[in-house]
Amino acid sequence: MLEILRRVIQEVNKARDLGTALDIIVDRIQEAMGTQVCSVYLLNEERDKYVFMATRGLNQSAVGNVTLELGEGLVGYVGERAEPVNLENAPEHRRYHYIEEVGEEPFNAFLGVPIIHHRRVLGVLVVQQRLARRYDESEEAFLITLSAQLAGVIAHARATGSLALTGSVQAAPASRFQGKAGAPGVAIGTAIVIYPEAELHTVPDRFTANPAAEITLFQQAIHETRGEIRAMSDKLSDRLRPEDLGLFEAYLHMLDDTAITGEVIELIEAGQWAQGALKAIIESHVASFQAMEDAYLRERGTDVLDLGRRVLAKLQRGEDRQYVYPPNTILVGEELTPAMFAGVPRDRLLGLVSVKGSGSSHVAILAKAMGIPTVMGVEDLPIHLLESKPLIVDGFEGCVITHPRADQITFYNDLKLDEDALTEGLEELKDQPCVSLDGHRVRLWVNTGLMSDASRSLDRGAEGVGLYRTEVHFMMNDRFPTEEEQKVIYREHLKAFAPRNVTMRTLDIGGDKALSYFPIQEENPFLGWRGIRVTLDHPEIFLSQVRAMIRANEGVDAYLRIMLPMVSSVTEVDEAKRLIDQCYAEIIEDGAKVAMPAVGVMIEVPAAVYQARDIIKRVDFLSVGSNDLIQYMLAVDRNNSRVAELYQEFHPAVLHALKHVVDAAHAENKPLGICGEMAGNPAAAILLMAMGYDVLSMNSNNLLPVKWAIRSFELTQAQQMLAQVLRMDNAPDIKTYIDEQMRKAGLGRIVRTRPPQ
Ligand code: PEP
Ligand code: MG
Repeated sequence: MLEILRRVIQEVNKARDLGTALDIIVDRIQEAMGTQVCSVYLLNEERDKYVFMATRGLNQSAVGNVTLELGEGLVGYVGERAEPVNLENAPEHRRYHYIEEVGEEPFNAFLGVPIIHHRRVLGVLVVQQRLARRYDESEEAFLITLSAQLAGVIAHARATGSLALTGSVQAAPASRFQGKAGAPGVAIGTAIVIYPEAELHTVPDRFTANPAAEITLFQQAIHETRGEIRAMSDKLSDRLRPEDLGLFEAYLHMLDDTAITGEVIELIEAGQWAQGALKAIIESHVASFQAMEDAYLRERGTDVLDLGRRVLAKLQRGEDRQYVYPPNTILVGEELTPAMFAGVPRDRLLGLVSVKGSGSSHVAILAKAMGIPTVMGVEDLPIHLLESKPLIVDGFEGCVITHPRADQITFYNDLKLDEDALTEGLEELKDQPCVSLDGHRVRLWVNTGLMSDASRSLDRGAEGVGLYRTEVHFMMNDRFPTEEEQKVIYREHLKAFAPRNVTMRTLDIGGDKALSYFPIQEENPFLGWRGIRVTLDHPEIFLSQVRAMIRANEGVDAYLRIMLPMVSSVTEVDEAKRLIDQCYAEIIEDGAKVAMPAVGVMIEVPAAVYQARDIIKRVDFLSVGSNDLIQYMLAVDRNNSRVAELYQEFHPAVLHALKHVVDAAHAENKPLGICGEMAGNPAAAILLMAMGYDVLSMNSNNLLPVKWAIRSFELTQAQQMLAQVLRMDNAPDIKTYIDEQMRKAGLGRIVRTRPPQ
């Protein structure tokens, strides 16, 4: 069964459009279950109807023409119940609905299984048989398993299908793809797909107005590839047996006009460019090989892929890979790298979209620093179909809209205007103190990682640095930076902010933050070797970093604070403190005149929440890393868009934990802050002020909106809101309540409205 499943999924995955995917599904299921009928009905959400989309065994002419209302017939019944319906004699069932055109009168046995993706019924998969009998348990289990697996594929194919290659870009309907917010802001522009060389799957579909020229290019590439294969064969002829050399002959045959070459040329003649045509044909051959029973033949798929890559390399070499960037470029890539977007003139680059990566990826961190709206981790995005297509990048919600509708464009244009007007309107707050209406002071600090963050933050009235992510510098290198190199960078940062507080976090790698030169391969990296765990295991890295930090402050005299990430026990704190003390003693012994830095701990795992009092006794301050704390408390991967809805800042458990940490720190008369993204959310900031957080540290873009929110409430009022919220038992209610209070306080403009779906 597993084998059949694997093959069907593989074939369907490779289908070029939804229609082909559904045809493959009904064919394979009918064959595998030996049943007389297999059909698929898909829900058309705009029309609230099930559409008869594919069949084997019923009338083909009805495909696409027959629809059922939501609750109509047995198909509607399956969708309504969202569970299988298995009937021995379907026509006798009260919900049976006869539709003449479909031709299902002769069939009695009926098994319908819902196709469900992300809790939504996408459609219904049906098998039918003449013989009146119940499908047995194993048949039912097979169909349920297939349907569960196919749901994601169908959802993807449906979204992709709506984008299928078309000359008229306006013709395709809008599709929304969810990813992760990478950098805030909205961009409305044109997709330019950037792809690494010789990677077939990343080649975009593209129209050519000159097929003859593409065919010439392609034939030249084939000619060169043939030459290359012959040369390889000659070179190896004295080392390989004649039968093994046959492989090269097979390669050459595949390149014949009657095989791959001919098929590619046909596609080019239909309007596809050479690289896109090559990709399509190679992928479909690879899929057929991989679907074969015989393991040897399956392996031959790899040969075809290799051949395809060789030809592609020739095509790309001849190609002028100078991309043309329109003034409204949105750069889209499988895995964007800083080098890729560095190539786009800044005044033309409106947004970034990366299929891989997360909000805390290197690219996202740089994009935030540069103010480029970015969406990361849009796993379902069919980038090969996006070349030159209109796109909206919503860096707030972390989603991408392809072929946006007029109402969506209007919504986002308005949002952009609102954001710009808001930013401008808030400018005047930058030199005002961050105090509540009744005079309670809250410190607003910034999170930084690059030098370019410094001037932007100071411009917006930052009062200090609550989190300097030192790993950014490490990530931009191709080896560990030396102590001296680090000292230079840290000194620049300290100087920019002196005499303010500058909180430098010791190296926080692991999880999703990788150093190319220090790979960490783990099954479960977020629960693995991360943050302080790595640096305590490598004291040489820790010591040189801490020394660089302390020495960088000599003569600068900022308030240096050293902060430890991912602490889960007091032993780690004791050990790190011992190493910091050792560094300081050595530096003083060397004759330097520099103050001992304050030492603090990030509270980002639940264990640290409940040991906050024991921890704070040992250090000078605490800072909550809510990004990680939320993921560990709620067991929700912060980078996984599939569970993004469960990642809730206002979850009661999170709020109670945050309050617990304040009480612990204040019981010891020590200050505490919070430096996760939550601190930059104005709604959350009001609650954090009420809890007693002394410092809120955030991305510089959020400084002014948060200041506005704090200046709009009295502390006592915020405390009443907090008391109310701490009695609530779910995040959506809490969010609604706070939003309502914000609107009443005149902050409606920073309460985000959900975009049209
Ligand atoms: C956090 O976890 O909240 C935090 C600020 O650290 P990072 O996002 O870098 O993990
Ligand atoms: Mg963290």
